[in-house]
Amino acid sequence: MENAFLQAAQAMADDARQVRRDLHRHPELGFQEYRTAGIIAAELAKLNIETMSGIAQTGVVGLIEGARPGPVVLLRFDMDALPIQEENQVEYVSTRPGVMHACGHDGHVAIGLTVARLLAGARPDLAGTIKLVFQPAEEGLGGAERMLAEGVLENPRPDYALALHLWNDREVGWAGIVPGALMAGADKFQVRISGRGGHGGLPEQSIDPVVAAAQLVSGIQTIVSRNLSPLEAGVISVTQLTAGDTFNVIPAWAEIKGTIRTFDPPVRQRILERLQALVEHVPAAFGCTSALEVRQVTPAVVNDARVTAVVEQAARDSGAGFQIESDYHTTVSEDMAYLLERVPGCYFFVGSANAQAGLNFGHHHPRFDFDERALPLAAGLMASAAAALAGYHRG
Ligand SMILES: [Zn+2]
Ligand SMILES: [Zn+2]
Repeated sequence: MENAFLQAAQAMADDARQVRRDLHRHPELGFQEYRTAGIIAAELAKLNIETMSGIAQTGVVGLIEGARPGPVVLLRFDMDALPIQEENQVEYVSTRPGVMHACGHDGHVAIGLTVARLLAGARPDLAGTIKLVFQPAEEGLGGAERMLAEGVLENPRPDYALALHLWNDREVGWAGIVPGALMAGADKFQVRISGRGGHGGLPEQSIDPVVAAAQLVSGIQTIVSRNLSPLEAGVISVTQLTAGDTFNVIPAWAEIKGTIRTFDPPVRQRILERLQALVEHVPAAFGCTSALEVRQVTPAVVNDARVTAVVEQAARDSGAGFQIESDYHTTVSEDMAYLLERVPGCYFFVGSANAQAGLNFGHHHPRFDFDERALPLAAGLMASAAAALAGYHRG
């Protein structure tokens, strides 16, 4: 038997699908989600939810006050699309060339609006405050950081935070609810190696940065294999290698770029120390000088164990028959990590694939699409978990 939130979410499933399809037809890139934000603000106003717009350009925040005092629970939904040309042939295909909701954030907005309806309708039974946050520019553009800079964690300050992602790596009915580290943190790095250019036929008169770069790339491969335990997780990929302009000139410099993914801050620290040592010493052994620059893109997404237990209980009690996986990890990154560094919370996945229907292309693929039955399941679970954290007593 499904709980009240899930039942109500199922009754709203057609509306959620319509909202999602409308947004899918009209995708907007990060910090340009004006139409999307307008739809959200109008919908929240209809529900008598106090709303603020224009946070971090296009972000929308709504507050649902329960009937009794209690904790503040922040629910975050992202809303941006990607610069991808859609290759699906569906009636709700993107009408904007080169822009597509290929990550499912159209679904997240539809879920967020369903959650808003569910919790606004439950006000008399609800304690605390639900802080709905519709965030722009999640796709590597810094939307979360900008919302933080503009005070999204103030007035009121959240006690807990929740977020979700529709997840096409798993079928509808699956839920990934994982305590601890869930998604990897990402860093990007850049190494500049300087030598001395010269004639390709007279190497003894030059200091060749290409050979030094090649040795450094090989050296970097030993960090994960030799400096991490086989039971620790970490990735370093060199993804860009630049040097020279032609075949008979030894260039004056070479440049290496790449990315580091880790779940555990001490592992990240060890990788960075080893990288620094290799960058210092390997090119130097070949007579080159070198400089390393590292920039953190996002920290790891780390869930609070107690909040995660509440979400898991909500999933079990929902009556939806979720197949729950509590030991799932992925090396993709999410800027919700910045909020979860500051507020105990839980980021969870809701399975959205349907292989039989061909709805199982991966996120960011030009043919990405998901099974819309995931919308009410995700909304019902999010509303149940939020109500449980804020305090909820029926009747
Ligand atoms: Zn994405
Ligand atoms: Zn996404």
